[in-house]
Amino acid sequence: MLNELPVDELTNEDAAEWVRFFTQLERLASYGTAICAGRVAETGHPKGATTPVSQWLAEERGESAARSRTILKTAARLKELSATREAFRSGALSASQATKVARAAALDPSAEESLLETAYRGSVPALHGQVQRIVDEAARPKDDAEAAARAKRANLRRYLHFWRDSDGGCRFSGRLAEEEGELFRRTIEDESRRMLSIAAPRARLADALGQIVGERRHARRRTQSAAIVRVDVKALRRGHARDGEICEVPGVGPIDAKTALELLGETMAYLLITDGVDVKALCHLGDGLPLAMEIALEERDSACVVPDCGEWQYLSLLRWRTDQPPGSPVTLADFCRLCRHHRYYVDRFGFRLRGGPGAWELRAPETAEDRHRSGTEPPHEARPPPQARDG
Ligand SMILES: [Zn+2]
Repeated sequence: MLNELPVDELTNEDAAEWVRFFTQLERLASYGTAICAGRVAETGHPKGATTPVSQWLAEERGESAARSRTILKTAARLKELSATREAFRSGALSASQATKVARAAALDPSAEESLLETAYRGSVPALHGQVQRIVDEAARPKDDAEAAARAKRANLRRYLHFWRDSDGGCRFSGRLAEEEGELFRRTIEDESRRMLSIAAPRARLADALGQIVGERRHARRRTQSAAIVRVDVKALRRGHARDGEICEVPGVGPIDAKTALELLGETMAYLLITDGVDVKALCHLGDGLPLAMEIALEERDSACVVPDCGEWQYLSLLRWRTDQPPGSPVTLADFCRLCRHHRYYVDRFGFRLRGGPGAWELRAPETAEDRHRSGTEPPHEARPPPQARDG
């Protein structure tokens, strides 16, 4: 049949129709493979095979043993999950959807129906998220003994592995016990916040790791800790916060204004004085103005500054005012935080930010008309110059 399919002559619509047909065929084949492989596993080894059934299946299919084990696990789970089995059999689920639904529904059978509904809607991230929540919930320890056993397992599985990629880059992967992992992550994130860098967030984390390792090698010591306090101007003046006023350590919770002031007397404390949503001023003690600036920026631009964007993850720092004469002092107002998407607009397509805090505007590359209207020269640099790090 495929020999006779005149692929090169198909219209776009016909080709799409064939894709639907073959997808359906593939789903049915996946279902058939799964249940029959399950039957093979139940009834012993196929004639002549000396390896485990998963290995035999891997060789039959020319796939990895891990994938074969997944098929066998799904087949076994489908025996108890009639709705999922029926959905898979009728071609309503792909093999990957059936695998995910079966995995989660086996842990929480009451969720089977809602998992299937998510799968029918076709959003891969939504299904993945729902499955992950169920798996996480099932893995949550019920008591201290379970928690200890779980921590012990995580610790037993710890490893760090290095290899080299084709460009000579050092790659690594690893697993740490929960507490050590959290400490590791936070140490690197803290370090990356100390750097005033325009590198992409992930690159900056890598730089932070490099920085920590470098410092260790040079046995240099420096202060690691900082405390951040958010407090309303009025509360600070009065000495205590009233309803609706903010006086807190972000991530920890509310504190009284007196404690806030005491905390300021400690080694390194940064105080962000807020008035409504705007960061009005920033005091810092100790060294590291860049860190102080970055904290203030995180506070001021808690999401991408482009109006209506609202993205709050993977923000990067942009020096948006590029029309300053060289050598002029760096101020908070020169910077803003942008999401990856809008950062790409700026770096790749020459979009520019205008307006400043409270009046942000993302403009397409300037035309002669814009320049005439605003009376400014076009920005000549696509990227701001790298900034010095503190320390
Ligand atoms: Zn954005």
